[in-house]
Amino acid sequence: MDIKITQRDQSKRSSVDFDNLAFGNQFSDHMLVCKFTGGEWESPAIIPYGKIQYDPAMSVLHYGQGVFEGMKAFSYKDGKVNIFRPESHYERFVESCERVQIPAIPKEVFLDGLDKLVDLDRDWVPADKFKSLYIRPFAFATDEFLGLKSSDTFSFIIITGPVGNYYKEGIKPVKLTTMPDYVRAVKGGVGAAKVPGNYAASLYPTTKAKEQGYTQVLWLDAVERKYVEEVGTSNIFFVFENEIVTPPLGGSILPGITRRSMIQLARDKGHTVNERKITINEVFEASKDGSLKEIFATGTAAVLSPVGSIHHQGEEIVVDRDKMGPISEDLYTTLTGIHHGENDDEHDWCHVI
Ligand SMILES: *Cc1c(COP(=O)(O)O)cnc(C)c1O
Repeated sequence: MDIKITQRDQSKRSSVDFDNLAFGNQFSDHMLVCKFTGGEWESPAIIPYGKIQYDPAMSVLHYGQGVFEGMKAFSYKDGKVNIFRPESHYERFVESCERVQIPAIPKEVFLDGLDKLVDLDRDWVPADKFKSLYIRPFAFATDEFLGLKSSDTFSFIIITGPVGNYYKEGIKPVKLTTMPDYVRAVKGGVGAAKVPGNYAASLYPTTKAKEQGYTQVLWLDAVERKYVEEVGTSNIFFVFENEIVTPPLGGSILPGITRRSMIQLARDKGHTVNERKITINEVFEASKDGSLKEIFATGTAAVLSPVGSIHHQGEEIVVDRDKMGPISEDLYTTLTGIHHGENDDEHDWCHVI
């Protein structure tokens, strides 16, 4: 595919402290941009990372017609770079686009564009384990028009940047609370799509949870407010004596690619994994009778975060003595080993460039 590349004169890499990376505040030298006009996606271009200029009437700013993805590239010891499950991220991106009427980005624009962009900025993929290059593809409506309708023009952009651990406290267990007065998503809505409004809606309850001393919100279902759905912007897993449970997808849960990978890895290791509904009461009961062993959350940004405690309506349970449990640790080590090329990639998840 034809991609016009305009390189930055001088890399800004030397201004970045790779020993102290946070999440999402450093960006690599280049970005990919592609526009949809006249009914089709034009050829993409790779240009120096920088500010973009848009009209104040641009429709995404008013009505939120936009989507995004979050994915990562990891370094191998021999200098190769692994983009993790790019096709799965592409498929989810297109599904999110469909839900908010953004025309599907052609597969080769997304995948070849990603390869070329990451290759051009491959010096930006941190060499050490537990660091990575975060990749943020996104698309948005650009019509200069305040009437509510689906836009006729769009932009698709990919930016990347080196990241360290997502949570400030590293791999320390997270403290959760339910917020039964608020919901993240409802079946029939847009909870299964990675669209910006979902995250705007989560900010207020999340801030309230943080003010009360918790790390994240444990989201309950919107209808009965008793089934567990997600943690913050991660999927959730419960480890019982003889079963690992994660809530089933069904419209209100984001189909995480880390979730899918963890289900596979846990089954490979001989665990029984069930995608089934689970109430907050079942979790609290199992904690009290000792059958609940571990809880962890999964997502691209943090990979796996152990859950240390859950508060719900005045009661609190402490999970696994507020430490990372053996099954969480094993799954985390296995997946990060695959990311960095130390473990076999049995399921063909790694796209090595
Ligand atoms: C992105 C996201 C996840 C995790 O998905 P991954 O593909 O594993 O990164 C989970 N829940 C929500 C709400 C998300 O936005």
